[in-house]
Amino acid sequence: MKYDYDLFTIGGGSGGVRASRFAAGFGARVAIAEERYLGGTCVNVGCIPKKLFSYAAHFHDDFEEAQSYGWQLNTPVFDWPGLIANKDREIARLNGVYKRLLEGSGVDILNARATVVDAHTVEVDSRRISAAHILVATGGWPVKPAIPGAEFGFTSNEAFHLARLPQRIAVVGGGYIAVEFASIFNGLGVETTLVYRGSQLLKSFDADLGRFLADQMIAKGVRILFKTDIKAINRNGDALACALTDGSVLDCDGIMLATGRAPNARGLGLENAGVALNQNGEVKVDANFQTSVPSIHAIGDVTNRVLLTPVALAEGMVVATHLFGKGGRAISYENIPTAIFSNPHVATVGLSEAAARARGLEIAIFKSTFTPLKHTLTGRPEKILMKLVVDKQTDRVLGVHMVGAEAGEIIQGFAVALNCGATKRQLDATIGIHPTIAEEFVTMRQPAA
Ligand code: NDP
Repeated sequence: MKYDYDLFTIGGGSGGVRASRFAAGFGARVAIAEERYLGGTCVNVGCIPKKLFSYAAHFHDDFEEAQSYGWQLNTPVFDWPGLIANKDREIARLNGVYKRLLEGSGVDILNARATVVDAHTVEVDSRRISAAHILVATGGWPVKPAIPGAEFGFTSNEAFHLARLPQRIAVVGGGYIAVEFASIFNGLGVETTLVYRGSQLLKSFDADLGRFLADQMIAKGVRILFKTDIKAINRNGDALACALTDGSVLDCDGIMLATGRAPNARGLGLENAGVALNQNGEVKVDANFQTSVPSIHAIGDVTNRVLLTPVALAEGMVVATHLFGKGGRAISYENIPTAIFSNPHVATVGLSEAAARARGLEIAIFKSTFTPLKHTLTGRPEKILMKLVVDKQTDRVLGVHMVGAEAGEIIQGFAVALNCGATKRQLDATIGIHPTIAEEFVTMRQPAA
């Protein structure tokens, strides 16, 4: 055989594992190198532990609301080390599942860092290994702002292992991770301040979502400082002081820097092997995930396109099928649904109102804000927002947006409808399920003025 392997994957996260397993399933001889933990960001310091924390935080509301439904509870006490231990046990189980899945597919696992030497060679533990194809699936890493004292702040990597839950926390940023963790800490009883340099949370989404979410989070007790950034962090014993751009100082016991993620593309030998990187340091790929070196492909967060696990999974399948399977699989980046597990949840699929207008489309907007049945008894000021963006000419539904309980569960179904080309008339003709929150999406009759 000319090469040691048909495919050598660097990075055992969602995309790398999926591509490796499927390539092996197609008969390729595959090895995967992972220096840290199998399952990558999603399993270890992302989606999965975050959602577990989010469940933990939501019990805060549940306990309060239960009383309106006749339950008499003693004051519940939260045990942070208990949550961490249970979460760690589940993550260890998932690491094992990933290991067994790879082994069961016949993939060789190397628990080490691999670097690229040339178009067909990688180096692992000073050993050179050749491969017909190399797949770079090394993901991304949180970035901290370049401010004095940034080392006193922690990122999402450390948030899952804090030795103690702070009493007062500042969360910096206004994106996915910032709103999710501000909601988690607030739900767990931490005095939470969200510090965001902009004026609208989740700015890459429909503007109504960020505005509505902010109001709901504030109603739940999160303090939000808009148009405010962090200038420096000073440590004073166990306490921390955030110097803010408005001149004030925010005292707290923990500071989470949720200020974005960067691709893990440096230090891998990619440039030496001739792999071109884009301006922001991400690996440049074509529609088939091929880099500027034909035998080297890249998928997932290291390409810095859509930083979502299901997208990396789909990209991994495309590469495996393209290189070793039959027929070309393609992936569409249109209508990718996504959910943000803040409290309340946010979920969306398709075009925002602004994006639809920017495309020059004539659109109708349907919007509804209402109190869900559950809160008629609790008296909680929690509201739901639902919004549809509809193309006036074709009647096609272009965007479905929601803030409220189980938004992700609801929007997943609408993502299928959008991919089938659903029209507003078809939504109207669909019978609702009563009483649910979701039925509102099929009963919105009057376009917004
Ligand atoms: P985002 O890009 O979503 O948000 C980063 C935030 O940090 C923005 O609000 C940005 O402000 C702010 N920021 C950036 N640099 C600075 C700075 N120097 N000083 C102050 N503020 C700064 O990144 P996240 O890290 O939240 O998430 C990364 C990606 O991970 C997401 O885009 C998403 O794809 C994925 N993810 C998905 C989740 C899910 O599916 N539920 C959950 C978590 C992450 P500004 O808005 O002004 O640019």
